Amino acid sequence: MKTDVQIAQEAKMLYIDKIAEQLGIEKEDLFQYGHYMAKIEPVVYERLKDKKDGKLVLVTAISPTPAGEGKTTVNIGLSMGLNKIGKKAISALREPSLGPSFGVKGGAAGGGYAQVVPMTNINLHFTGDFHAITAANNLIAAMLDNHIHQGNEQQIDVRRVVWKRVLDMNDRALRQIVVGLGGVSNGYPREDGFDITVASEIMAILCLSNSLEEFKEKVSNIVIAYRRDKSPVFVKDINAQGAVTVLMKDAILPNLVQTLENTPAILHGGPFANIAHGCNSILATKYALKLADYTVTEAGFGADLGAEKFFDIKCRMGNLHPNAVVIVATIRALKHHGGVTKEDYDKENLDALRKGFENLKKHMENVAKFGVPSVVAINQFPTDTEGEIKLLKELVEKEGRKCILSQVFAKGGEGAVDLAKEVVRVCEEEESNFKPLYDVNDTIENKITTIAKEIYGAKDVIFTKEAKNSIKRIVENGMDKVPVCMAKTQYSLSDDPKLLGAPKDFELTVRNVRISNGAGFVVALTGDIMTMPGLPKVPAANNIDIKEDGEIVGLF
Ligand code: ADP
Ligand code: MG
Repeated sequence: MKTDVQIAQEAKMLYIDKIAEQLGIEKEDLFQYGHYMAKIEPVVYERLKDKKDGKLVLVTAISPTPAGEGKTTVNIGLSMGLNKIGKKAISALREPSLGPSFGVKGGAAGGGYAQVVPMTNINLHFTGDFHAITAANNLIAAMLDNHIHQGNEQQIDVRRVVWKRVLDMNDRALRQIVVGLGGVSNGYPREDGFDITVASEIMAILCLSNSLEEFKEKVSNIVIAYRRDKSPVFVKDINAQGAVTVLMKDAILPNLVQTLENTPAILHGGPFANIAHGCNSILATKYALKLADYTVTEAGFGADLGAEKFFDIKCRMGNLHPNAVVIVATIRALKHHGGVTKEDYDKENLDALRKGFENLKKHMENVAKFGVPSVVAINQFPTDTEGEIKLLKELVEKEGRKCILSQVFAKGGEGAVDLAKEVVRVCEEEESNFKPLYDVNDTIENKITTIAKEIYGAKDVIFTKEAKNSIKRIVENGMDKVPVCMAKTQYSLSDDPKLLGAPKDFELTVRNVRISNGAGFVVALTGDIMTMPGLPKVPAANNIDIKEDGEIVGLF
């Protein structure tokens, strides 16, 4: 089979105004970046404000293996499948980050015959949103250090600056640095560090704002440092919110592209799925809901993290009402949860599949706790056997849900016709009684404990002394009545990546709790979370090249 980049480069793309036309958007209402990418101007939403929303479908997954289980691929395939059966559908997805593109995982524009295009642009600079976020984030950093240099009116404690600089690159050398060296004119030396751009709170805010005004308001409430008395210093205290918002004026508009089958896709925002909520922007989802009958969206990692945060953070803040959830599973990953190692993924193993099914079953039960009906999609790999597919279908159907084979990687939208039909049936015939899991007005400890017990299956939660102290300070500052953003390994339902399947009777340890006051959540850290990844020994970047005729190779 051809590589993703080969398939993408052979795509017969339509000019983006033709894609927009399918959605009733006029050319004048596009802000075009070349022929195939455009931002959608706010007038489009204004005009459709009173129109009834279409159906909202979330694509999530079982606890993944490092390669990813194919949420994005199935998402794109499903929206193409929906279009094939005559429903107007849009994929609403995240924008890829350069870090993983040059690192291990590769791109994030789907795979095989279920991709969004122009794939190379999307995986590289795209419409510049991440660069704008980088600039906006670093403007705050520059203004903060300048504030200290110019007399420090706010009495910022240079040992307690929490605002970091960012760069959209995996660069471990920048994790911890010292800035301000070189004498009086260079400011006050202090320890600092870089995060990857997708970990910036500006990214989380971009994705959780319903309007430009709300964006500015949220930015002004970001905590950037503390004073000696430990009181917080906000962005509004150094008056940076206006300039930051100006820098983000275009980046806040959703990006329109197309799938390999010329159906519309909106890609916008891409926050980390651990220290942030891992979903595309609320604005992109809202635009899609007005423009299409079906909006197919995605949340990062497995359903314990991605779907939970989608429901409890994104849907709550965006006042969204999801109609159905597609849980993506691969037979190889289920066998992995059943104890099979990578070398044996390709061998039929019904016992391991049956055992690993416990993981999928727990995710199905969890989704039901939010009141939203689900469908299981098997993302088919060539090595899946008929016996395995049959068994998985039986196991899922015994739990009262349908299990549909998705062949989108090999066949595109045609491979998702059955899945699309079942999604439509669920949306039309089954009621969604969506409700978030917890009350934001509950204590931080209770909110975390509810998630840990209900979703992860934990017996109890241990809060370290550091975590307890942080919570105390957050409560003192009156910042605790917000949703919780869990930062946990995606490889297990527990906080131990080695506990596969559906572990029980474990204790979840919360090591620290941080406030993202601008974005409007507290982050509960359950392990060492890397906010600036490093490159592997042989980075993907080593294989990426461009030929004389402009053809790009090695981008997956
Ligand atoms: P996720 O969104 O869950 O992280 P992706 O959809 O990005 O996963 O898929 C992860 C990787 O696996 C991609 O490189 C994709 O091309 C590949 N992939 C996905 N589905 C299949 C499949 N059915 N067969 C082969 N490769 C696949
Ligand atoms: Mg993905």
